[in-house]
Amino acid sequence: MTTGRLYPISPSKLSTWLDCPRRFFLQYVERQRVSGSWAHLSMGNAIHNALRDWFDEPAAPRTRERAESLVRAHWTQAGFRDAEQSGQWQSAAAAMVWAYLSGLDPAFAPHSVERSLGAIAPGIALNGRIDRLDGGGGDPESLVVVDYKTGKRIPSSDDARGSFALAIYAVCVERSLRRPCTRVELHHIPSGVMAAHVYEPSTLQRQIDRVVQIAGEMAQAEEDQRAGADLSEVFPPRPSPLCGWCDVRDWCPEGAASAPKKDPWSGLPVAEDEASLPA
Ligand code: SF4
Repeated sequence: MTTGRLYPISPSKLSTWLDCPRRFFLQYVERQRVSGSWAHLSMGNAIHNALRDWFDEPAAPRTRERAESLVRAHWTQAGFRDAEQSGQWQSAAAAMVWAYLSGLDPAFAPHSVERSLGAIAPGIALNGRIDRLDGGGGDPESLVVVDYKTGKRIPSSDDARGSFALAIYAVCVERSLRRPCTRVELHHIPSGVMAAHVYEPSTLQRQIDRVVQIAGEMAQAEEDQRAGADLSEVFPPRPSPLCGWCDVRDWCPEGAASAPKKDPWSGLPVAEDEASLPA
């Protein structure tokens, strides 16, 4: 790390850099304002918000009607082709949420939901917003990180093990709340699949060491760019099929030329090449 101040790192900032340094530059350094929405994000937000509200009101009835009404309350039509498509997916999302919730013990109550936490690591300030924290993990003091996934791709335990986001969340829990946190879980709402990983202290530390190293590269790139370095050297574009989904492609001729722009509803989990879908 080359600057005196702590470099702020969130999971989304880190993954943007890893996907494409030019995208990182346009989103986080130049802060280009993007317009438009994606239907799969509208659906994901409605599902996340419905699950938050469900657990936020433990005294409310645990019924299918309530689960569906929460999805409806948070639904927006942004990104959908038309009202008919939006309505079909609202029904599908409501069914997914109820299928997920009806599989839980009715008496279950998480430790907390949508918790924003931070932690300091060498040269960096980690921060993250955790979908849900559960008790458990083999120790009454332990907390378990739960991250909801709503995309098409069903996560595996390898995804949980390799996720920088989950490692950041676990460290934020341990350092902010001073509670052990070794178990992390990805809950895929459309399929009901849960993928988990349990860290050894050394493996979690290795993940965070890697985050510190990557953050150092990000901070250095920003410093070099401010000092006048060539943009294509410090923040090179990385064209891939993901360019079709990129929110800042209007400012990136290399990426825009490499993949056609996707329709705003293309990320909905319909039959399509999974490898080219956003996570
Ligand atoms: S269009 Fe592609 S290459 Fe350009 S910034 Fe976006 S992801 Fe990167």
